[in-house]
Amino acid sequence: MAKIFCVANQKGGVGKTTTAVNLAAGLAQLEQRVLLVDLDPQGNATMGAGINKSGLEASVYEVMLGMADVTKARQHSVNGKFDVLPANRELAGAEVEMVELDNRETRLKSALATVDADYDFILIDCPPALSMLTLNGLCAAHGVIIPMQCEYYALEGLSDLVNTIKKVHAKLNPDLKIIGLLRVMFDPRMTLSQQVSAQLEQHFGDKIFKTIIPRNVRLAEAPSYGMPGVTFDPASKGAQAYIAFGAEMVERIKTL
Ligand code: ATP
Ligand code: MG
Repeated sequence: MAKIFCVANQKGGVGKTTTAVNLAAGLAQLEQRVLLVDLDPQGNATMGAGINKSGLEASVYEVMLGMADVTKARQHSVNGKFDVLPANRELAGAEVEMVELDNRETRLKSALATVDADYDFILIDCPPALSMLTLNGLCAAHGVIIPMQCEYYALEGLSDLVNTIKKVHAKLNPDLKIIGLLRVMFDPRMTLSQQVSAQLEQHFGDKIFKTIIPRNVRLAEAPSYGMPGVTFDPASKGAQAYIAFGAEMVERIKTL
């Protein structure tokens, strides 16, 4: 049985996709069988895994609308050594088209149940919105990983996300938990980063992952080569941090 995690934060550009892609690659290096689900019409996770989003025969869009099986739509990321359920702009239409469908919040959950036995981890890269797509991610998952930058505005909006997670937990998915907050793009030279990081630890305790992901240019360069940072430059500080985060997740799921 796969453990399923959403990488979510409705703020844009906080490092969701970088986290999803590199955690997938980090877990693959630890011999875990991983499926990365791209749930964002931007298709960044798809491209970052080295899969061309323009030439998809089937994508998560067809899967959610019941027009294709996951086994048909999934592809293997050679660079990342994990499978990908890819996405592209078509997925933006799903939001509207699903309105008329039954069980519209649980379409992804049902689809993933068909390949559950093939994986140890399924990671879902959510779009920067609390939309029907994100709701599908939250309904399918056992837990949420929330990447956040240690800056003044980081906590703003976090309560909206936490409230949404609470509602989904109460009404749609009793399994759902916040697994943890992940500090990303961390710059130890900035006093503010240190302060916000310390505040997060005080406030959220063991809901803060021990691993901190530093700001590292190699992580930002890797997607243009269609590679996760973890495989693009394994020795870089960013890659090392995501591998450590993978190990932390493997430990963490033992306690779930
Ligand atoms: P969106 O909300 O648009 O989906 P996102 O939350 O998925 O964005 P990313 O795309 O992962 O965020 O990251 C935003 C930008 O920051 C990208 O250009 C990415 O390469 C860069 N970035 C992410 N993490 C790091 C890091 N640790 N060090 C340096 N650059 C980073
Ligand atoms: Mg993204």
